Amino acid sequence: MSQPRVIIVGGGFAGLAAAKALRKTPAKIILIDRTNHHLFQPLLYQVATSVLTPSQIATPIRGILRNQKNTTVIMGEVTGVDKDQKYVIASDADRQNVPIAYDYLILATGAGHSYFGHNEFAEYAPGLKSLADSEAARNKILQAFELAEAEEDPARHQDLLTFVLVGAGPTGVEMAGALAILVRTTLKSDFRRIDPTSARIVLVDMAPKVLGPFSENLSKAAKQRLEKLGVEVRLGHSVDHIDAEGVVIAGERIPCKTVIWTAGVAPSPAGKWLNAETDRAGRVRIQEDLTVPGHSEIFVVGDTASLDQNGKPLPGVAQVAMQQGRYAGELIHSRILGSPPPHAFSYFDKGSMAVVGKGFAVLQSGKVQVSGFGAWLTWAAVHLQFLATSSLRLSVFLQWTWTYVTGQRGDRLIVNHQGSDVAKPTSDSPVRATLAGR
Ligand SMILES: Cc1cc2nc3c(=O)[nH]c(=O)nc-3n(C[C@H](O)[C@H](O)[C@H](O)COP(=O)(O)OP(=O)(O)OC[C@H]3O[C@@H](n4cnc5c(N)ncnc54)[C@H](O)[C@@H]3O)c2cc1C
Repeated sequence: MSQPRVIIVGGGFAGLAAAKALRKTPAKIILIDRTNHHLFQPLLYQVATSVLTPSQIATPIRGILRNQKNTTVIMGEVTGVDKDQKYVIASDADRQNVPIAYDYLILATGAGHSYFGHNEFAEYAPGLKSLADSEAARNKILQAFELAEAEEDPARHQDLLTFVLVGAGPTGVEMAGALAILVRTTLKSDFRRIDPTSARIVLVDMAPKVLGPFSENLSKAAKQRLEKLGVEVRLGHSVDHIDAEGVVIAGERIPCKTVIWTAGVAPSPAGKWLNAETDRAGRVRIQEDLTVPGHSEIFVVGDTASLDQNGKPLPGVAQVAMQQGRYAGELIHSRILGSPPPHAFSYFDKGSMAVVGKGFAVLQSGKVQVSGFGAWLTWAAVHLQFLATSSLRLSVFLQWTWTYVTGQRGDRLIVNHQGSDVAKPTSDSPVRATLAGR
């Protein structure tokens, strides 16, 4: 008899946990991801702010699963699901719309950016979701300093050296803190015409506090820390407008050339593929066993799923994704072997953490609420533990230690993936002005 086939779409936290839970299952597992790597998204901001290199936060999925003989990894993009005929439709660079049949399906496609109905902001305020996004943000930030150094008119320096981050959740707060450290320490002595420490960093959110899910005390501690690092925190106002010249907040224009979107996330289109019920954010409503109502063979897990526990929706965080992925894998394993299924899924919340600059973090776990250096050490240990391979753990540990002691960063390169790395002066660029002035 042929073995059942399990298709997992997505090799993020949820998909990878599902695949690992199925390692001993007598089944053919096919994991499809549109990238070839598993990405540790919580450290994306460290690539954007030059602490780590892209290869320190991402690992080839194929490499992670190389010893798992029942699992095949395919790099391709899933564009639809036929839940009646039981196949997914996938495309790769070579072939389009190939149907791949399944007996069990796990959709773990994560989330994308949400501009809250203002998709026109995307052009000027890129988000932070993929490795390419983090490299683009790093290029943009470093380029702003290069442009300012080349600019002879000091009146333009302030616009070039103003950075606005939209969204004061964990990503925005961590990014603002890391950016402040970058400009106040690492870049401090590297320029001659400009003073990097004069850079203005503005963190904006329509919420009344930073780090929404954290307690009032920790939120206050994080805000105070940011302000100590020189970050301007603007709360209670949404961004009205973003264009090439800056942002408008509560009617006030802040001229700037660099805006990074660290706010809302939108789920992947899994709900549309399945024509299933979704929550207001578009995440697929799933049952206690993580399956889609009416389809016990289809599981939706991680950021693209919506499940309430104790009357509240589970948050879109890595722990939820990993625990759900593992559960879906274990349930499928038990069904294939005919063994008793695990109890209904129950999320075990280990707590939340956020770093605010060098050597300072906030940590909330049950009744425990701490901030400071101890919380930062815990944050570092936990993040190292969850990196995908031992070599990454060692490499990131050494880089963090080096950066902590010397202030030097891992990757301060501006890489132009579109073409030549040589700057091409345009008629009004500061580079042309500088060259002409020589
Ligand atoms: C900048 C940032 C910082 C974060 N910080 C934290 C943090 O500090 N702590 C925390 O707990 N959580 C954090 N999160 C959230 C956490 O990363 C997510 O909750 C987690 O990644 C969700 O896992 P997932 O497997 O559902 O999705 P993902 O990890 O996003 O994985 C989805 C996978 O599906 C693939 N995929 C998507 N669509 C398709 C398709 N159509 N076809 C094929 N493949 C597809 C993608 O390539 C990706 O590999 C952060 C997220 C971001 C963006």
